[in-house]
Formats: sequence, structure tokens, C-alpha cells
Amino acid sequence: MGAIGQKGILLQSKLPNIGTTIFTVMSKMAQDYKAINLSQGFPDFDCPDRLKELVTKHLNDGKNQYPPMAGIPALRQQIAEKVKAYYHYDADPETEVTVTSGATEALFDAIQAVVSRDDEVIVFDPAYDSYEPAIQLAGGRTIHIPLSLPDYSIDWDRVKQSITARTRLIIINTPHNPCGSILTKADLDNLAAVIRDQDILVLSDEVYEHMVYDGLKHESVLAHEELKTKSFAVFSFGKTYHATGWKLAYCVANKELSTEFKKIHQFVTFTTSSFVQYAIADFMAECPQHSLELPAFYQQKRDTFCRLIADSRFRFSPSKGTYFQLVDYSEISQQSDVDFANYLTREKGVAAIPLTPFYQQAPATNILRFCFCKDDSTLERAAEILCKL
Ligand code: PMP
Ligand code: GLN
Repeated sequence: MGAIGQKGILLQSKLPNIGTTIFTVMSKMAQDYKAINLSQGFPDFDCPDRLKELVTKHLNDGKNQYPPMAGIPALRQQIAEKVKAYYHYDADPETEVTVTSGATEALFDAIQAVVSRDDEVIVFDPAYDSYEPAIQLAGGRTIHIPLSLPDYSIDWDRVKQSITARTRLIIINTPHNPCGSILTKADLDNLAAVIRDQDILVLSDEVYEHMVYDGLKHESVLAHEELKTKSFAVFSFGKTYHATGWKLAYCVANKELSTEFKKIHQFVTFTTSSFVQYAIADFMAECPQHSLELPAFYQQKRDTFCRLIADSRFRFSPSKGTYFQLVDYSEISQQSDVDFANYLTREKGVAAIPLTPFYQQAPATNILRFCFCKDDSTLERAAEILCKL
């Protein structure tokens, strides 16, 4: 299984069942067919002008050599101040904060740091696609627990029953990609109860922390009395500053966990683009209102998209968080979600993400994910097509 023959050399694939990620596949299809791309999650508007000015300034100021391994001190200080302000977490910027090349790297580092051969890691399906390959490369086993329909909530009794002597890590994601659901304080209390007195850690993917709507609140593990000492919390500047291409993110965890995390980080990327770190540190100090304004900014986009497709034959409940909207297309087609997403992209000119690639065992539903972090004009053009289906 997984053998690749090449000029007589036999390569054993370490990820025999992994292909190209669905995000890359659908964005390429959107490009090939000139479809409106509501698939891969990235804005089609630019990051703040002032932030671009700061990047240019630091680039021209010669901030072009290796920054410190864990990130420049000014950025780590800003991150510490931010998690204090938002989550009342007292992070030591020296020992508890690591800047990484995207949240993807941070998730990978955390998993490699604590998962050993045959350790079990619990993920909730549909699960973001980078978790399982990282677990597999660490030699661990992924235990998939499906989120409960219709609201994609976690069945904590089922989690409790799934714990074994080998359970090492539980990965949560709130706000949730692709579902747009969020975890409540009660969920975090349940998680804390499940792992109490056990050697189980938490990896909390919180990259959409500032995209929570309708007055709801993002519940970070950093704000939880019990979980904050047992968790890696991962955040992404790519989402917050509309700059997914810069691949800048960070992990906050207590000193013991961060020490192990940095042992991996230093040999995966060692450090991250220097001038962008300086620019974001300055921007965080100068424009703290940017993050505060994000929920309203994205809620308006969600509401616009939902209003525009309200008269379509798609059925949906507005997302509570993230910049994604799930829709049920059963009234339009009974095709599989992969086939329907391909059809929509190729024949109708709107690209979306199917849900089954995020499941070990997908339920029999007809659901697609649309990304609404787009200019209103893009959403209007897409909705015009979607309403005709
Ligand atoms: N986790 C989730 C849930 C995501 O949606 C994404 C990217 N969209 C990432 C992690 C990776 O973030 P980054 O681009 O910073 O690597
Ligand atoms: N996380 C983004 C999404 O959900 C995609 C990131 C990627 O392409 N790796 O669309």
C-alpha cells in the first residue's frame, strides 16, 4: 500500500490516502472555469492600507534577516497584551508565546510535540483537513467523533465513552470551520470535566476568534480556569488582518507546553518572515479597534449573503461564527456534495466546498460550504446565479 515506483526506487508513502486538499482543488477548478470563487476561505478585498504601509516601511528599513526563533519581542508583547485584554490570560511573552508560519504550522508543531506512536487523538467531524495527516505523521491514531446534527454540537457523553488509556489529545475548533458553529462555556466545562485527572491535553484551533455574530461571545480555552494550563491555543493573523497569504500566526500555551512546542517549531520553519512581524506588531499597537470591529464587519457580510440567497432553494441557518455559510441543497439536487460542487463550479460558475472530505464517515446529507468574506458585488453576482438554481 502506498508504494510509488520511480526508476526502480520503491517509495513508501507516509500519507498513502492523502491527495491534494479540497481547498486547492476547488480554487483551481474555479480558476480553470472562471467561476466566482466562494470555495477556499480568503477575502477578495485587501488588508488595511496602514498595515501595507508598515510592511513596506519595515522591508525598506532592512528588517530582512532572521528574526528570533519564537518571534520578535515586540510582536510577542503585543500578543500577550491582546490575550490579556480578550481572555484575561497572563501570558509571559518570553516563554508562552510562539509566532509561527500560519496556524497550519502551529497545529502541526503542537501535534508533533505531544503525540507519540499509537497515542489516540480525538477530532470532531467534519474536521479541518490538516489535523489528521499531522497526527498520522506523529504515529498517532485519529479517533473521529461526528458532531451532532442539526446544529453541529458535541456529544460529550460520546466523548467520555471514547476516552481510553491511550487518549493523549483532543482537538477542538471554535468558531468551527466548515460548520460555522461555536462552542459555549458549557462545552468547555464539559471538556474540562472529561479530561480532569487524566494525562490528556487540548489543542484549540481558534483562528476565527473575532468572527462571532449576533452578540455571542468567543469562548477561548485561555479564558477557562482549568483548560488554560492544559491547552495549546492557536490563532491566525491571516484571518484577522485579511492577509491569508502572509501565513503569520501564533500559539499561546503555558511554559511547559510551549517549550516542547518550540522544539518542533525551530526545526520545521525555525522562524517567520521578519518585516511582516514588525508591521503587525506596530499595527496591533496602533489600531486595536481593527479586531474589535471585525464581528460587525463580517456579520454584515453574513447577513448580506443570507439575504441575497433567502429566496433561493438552498436551506440554511445563519452561521454563528467564521466566514463560512453552510447550505442544504436537497431541494435542488440529490447529487453527492462533491458532484454538486463540481457541477456548480463548471456549469454554473460558482465554486463551493463539499463537506464529505472533512469526514471519516459522512452522513447522508446534501450540504455545501460557501465563503462570504467577499466584496458585496461578488456576493451579489454569485447569489444571482444561486437563486436561479
Ligand atoms: N484552522 C482552520 C480551522 C482554518 O480554517 C485555517 C485556514 N483557513 C487554518 C487552521 C490555517 O490557518 P493559516 O492560514 O494561518 O495556516
Ligand atoms: N482554511 C481555508 C478554508 O477553509 C483554506 C486554507 C488552505 O487552503 N489551506 O477555506
